[in-house]
Amino acid sequence: KMNTDIGQHILKNPGVAQAIVDKADLKQSDIVLEVGPGTGNLTTRILEKAKRVIAVEQDPRMAAELTKRFQGTPAAKRLELILGDVIKMPELPYFDVCISNTPYQISSPLTFKLLATSPAPRSAVLMFQREFAMRLFAKPGEKLYSRLSVNAQMWAKVDHVMKVGKNNFNPPPQVESNVVRITPKNPRPQISYEEWDGLLRVAFVRKNRVLRSGFLGTSSVMEMLESNYKTFCAQNEIPLDDGPLDDAAAADGMDVDAGADADNDEWDGIMDVDDEDDMPDFFKEESDRKSKKLQDNPNRKKKGKVSELVRAKVKKVLEVDTELADRRARLCDEGDFLKLLYAFNQEGIHFN
Ligand code: SAM
Repeated sequence: KMNTDIGQHILKNPGVAQAIVDKADLKQSDIVLEVGPGTGNLTTRILEKAKRVIAVEQDPRMAAELTKRFQGTPAAKRLELILGDVIKMPELPYFDVCISNTPYQISSPLTFKLLATSPAPRSAVLMFQREFAMRLFAKPGEKLYSRLSVNAQMWAKVDHVMKVGKNNFNPPPQVESNVVRITPKNPRPQISYEEWDGLLRVAFVRKNRVLRSGFLGTSSVMEMLESNYKTFCAQNEIPLDDGPLDDAAAADGMDVDAGADADNDEWDGIMDVDDEDDMPDFFKEESDRKSKKLQDNPNRKKKGKVSELVRAKVKKVLEVDTELADRRARLCDEGDFLKLLYAFNQEGIHFN
């Protein structure tokens, strides 16, 4: 009666369940967030080691089974069950450690949610499908390198814990799994998560394009940066003259866009590593709404002076300040993105 549409694959090997909990190095004082407790194979072992478990389960049938399993036992008082979708929770309750045999559909949003959590948990021990786990470790230039890789490596240390074959589950999923441990950096890097992730969203919408084309050649990106710049100026009381451009300058601005939007020449025949087009849907971290907006090509608006000012700033950052204009996101490492973010922010250009 498992609902594999929401990732119900129960771990049937007790040795693996015990190993996952052991790898979390729990303390008696810990509050543990468990995502998708199912019938409670991990929950019961976590309750032996920790002070309290907050379990978030989406399926009411599973939740009922979990409640029944612990009813009347001394551990019941230390188990809090939240019925719902963990991704839709606006804020996670406080927890020290997260443990999850992760429903594979939410691998990406759950990881991003955990990385954005502040204060950061001490660690997260998570079971993922193998290919997803490999994306967490991927380095610049590797096929699986993506926004997820940069984010994971920016905010945390990622360790491989163990491989888990599909036959350890009931029913067996289609692919193999891996357990990973994510240990957020402490202290947390002193940059804004939203700014950082905003920059990565822009850079990775087309990770094979050179940054010049991903920024200056993508009208939706430039419009977003212009709108953020106006907000920035308003907040900092910087006066702005947003009158229309004279015809020559406006035409010039249009040309840059038109040329670069037809960006096929930028691809260098490396279509085989294009974004996540060959990946199953749940791996596409770029498919969420925020990133979609950047991919859409809204109707061109007539350009004003602020638009040209922002364009000049972006050009300067890419070509002069960082000299990264001709680099592709798939080859940039954390240090490159930090340098970019710093230079953009110096110019008053923000991604949030
Ligand atoms: N922890 C159990 C185990 O290891 O045997 C079950 C793991 S099973 C892979 C994933 C569980 O997550 C299922 O019980 C499923 O109902 C639940 N689930 C799926 N999507 C969820 C979501 N968005 N929020 C919370 N729970 C979810």
